[in-house]
Amino acid sequence: MKTEELKGIPVSPGVTIGTAFIFHRQESFTIPYVKIKKSDIPTEIAHFEDAITRTRAEILGIRKNLSVQIGREHSDIFNAHLLILEDRTLIEDVIALIKTKTTTADHAFSLVVQRYFRAFSQINDEYLKERVDDIKDVSRRLLHNLHGDKKNQLENLSEKVVLIAHDLSPSDTATMDKEKVLAFVTEVGGPTSHTAILGRSLEIPAIVGMAGVTGRVKTGDPIIVDGTHGVLIINPDRKLIQEYEKQEERYSELTTELHKLKDLPAETTDGKKITLASNIEFDDEISSVLSHGSEGIGLYRTEYLYMNRQDLPTEEEQYRAYKNAAKKIAPHPFIIRTLDLGGDKFISSLDVPREMNPFLGWRAIRFCLTQVDVFKEQLRAVLRASTQKNLKLMYPMISNVHELRHANAILEECKLELKSKKQRFNPDLEIGAMIEIPSAAVTSDILAKEVDFFSIGSNDLIQYALAVDRVNEKIAYLYEPTHPAILRLIQQVIQNGHKQKIWIGCCGEMAADPAIAVLLVGLGVDELSISPFILPKAKKAIRSVSYEFAQEIAGEALKFETGKEVREFITAKMKRVCPDLIE
Ligand code: PEP
Ligand code: MG
Repeated sequence: MKTEELKGIPVSPGVTIGTAFIFHRQESFTIPYVKIKKSDIPTEIAHFEDAITRTRAEILGIRKNLSVQIGREHSDIFNAHLLILEDRTLIEDVIALIKTKTTTADHAFSLVVQRYFRAFSQINDEYLKERVDDIKDVSRRLLHNLHGDKKNQLENLSEKVVLIAHDLSPSDTATMDKEKVLAFVTEVGGPTSHTAILGRSLEIPAIVGMAGVTGRVKTGDPIIVDGTHGVLIINPDRKLIQEYEKQEERYSELTTELHKLKDLPAETTDGKKITLASNIEFDDEISSVLSHGSEGIGLYRTEYLYMNRQDLPTEEEQYRAYKNAAKKIAPHPFIIRTLDLGGDKFISSLDVPREMNPFLGWRAIRFCLTQVDVFKEQLRAVLRASTQKNLKLMYPMISNVHELRHANAILEECKLELKSKKQRFNPDLEIGAMIEIPSAAVTSDILAKEVDFFSIGSNDLIQYALAVDRVNEKIAYLYEPTHPAILRLIQQVIQNGHKQKIWIGCCGEMAADPAIAVLLVGLGVDELSISPFILPKAKKAIRSVSYEFAQEIAGEALKFETGKEVREFITAKMKRVCPDLIE
């Protein structure tokens, strides 16, 4: 059998060697017409109503279980399903069709839901498109109950498998026998899809966005899933299996070893302490942040609160979300970044026109400073939540001091508004600026006077400084975190910030590389904020070196002429110190 290798988006690390199980969902909603006797109509209607009651009970059960397993926030996904089952128009349309067509409940139901699918999919709105998936998911369950079919295959797995699917719906993942699923790979989905988050919270290897995989693998095929690199190997030969067995063993040893560091600080051997925090998009990631030993949230990307919905989150809703999240992570810091809409993140409730150069366009703070109502709603919510003293605020995409002053002036207005309503807030709320535009880095001496901290957003800083679109695969080879220009800009920001006695963090992905984390420590950062799953590696790297060594590395790195040389140099240096961490 031929060995084949496929690539996707890695979303949950680790290696698994196992057997594939292809999950094909029953997708057909076309149920043939069957004529029934007029006298059977009441029985058919009762059968339909009974199926609705049973489906409802099942969903309530799933919601409850899920809430216990991975938190209430995830289980709320099923609220939309319950609403569909309570939709009187849908129910009445089905009952009317049973009567007028003298047909079965399942045929009538299939006609009605197909009408819904057509109507929803014609609307050009991301939020409503996603609702089609909810309707499909709940319809599938209802049809099972009408037919009395065997339920979801994923509930009845007889052995441990690697799940391969086009997509996994919230219902599939909620009911699947998690003890039997060793890893999963899906054709669709991105790093923040529900499936990806589930993979991470279960801590099993997972890959998404692997186009065509269900057509390339068969149930029973031996496969290897490398969730760290997003690689799937079909029919591996003995040599590959042995190689990956070693990796699997190493990975599990490393995980056990890293787990032991959970409650230890990120401190160099000579006592220099770094705050190692995490970036999150959803507040239900906080439990995982804590279980991986993070010391706070260095970046909470609030735009996700605005996504997948038709309306904007109200001040009250945001206030509750921020306050709860800050409470969960207390006493560690919780840094809220104001709305960073635009670039590659769009929100259906805000009518933002598509632009020629969205990354250079009307995004983030530029948007907020002109849409003051939207901005103020968020600022008031943050201020009110700041009675939770660990909360801090930062602005994204600052390009000049005027923007920073303008944002702070609006914040002051919000404080006055709250005062007049006798609403409480922390008057000493710490304010930060993200340094992610070269002009901000170069003028960081000026900006530092206006804020309490800087957070270097290297993801954007690299794209703007090197003129490399961060989402364009064709030029990804030019996206170099170790480019001398980047190191010099970061050094400048840290020096300027420290001169003004403010602290400096870095919340871009570059800090997730353990060798670069040490380089950043050597350059003088006070805080690093990265994904919780990678954090233990960075902690181990920091704990393996002295501050002096990190400073030496940084000093040497600044002398090289190319990013490649810097990368090779820091990799070689760190490989000697902690070989198991550096690839
Ligand atoms: C960054 O640009 O480095 C950053 C952390 O922000 P985002 O990735 O959300 O743009
Ligand atoms: Mg950014």
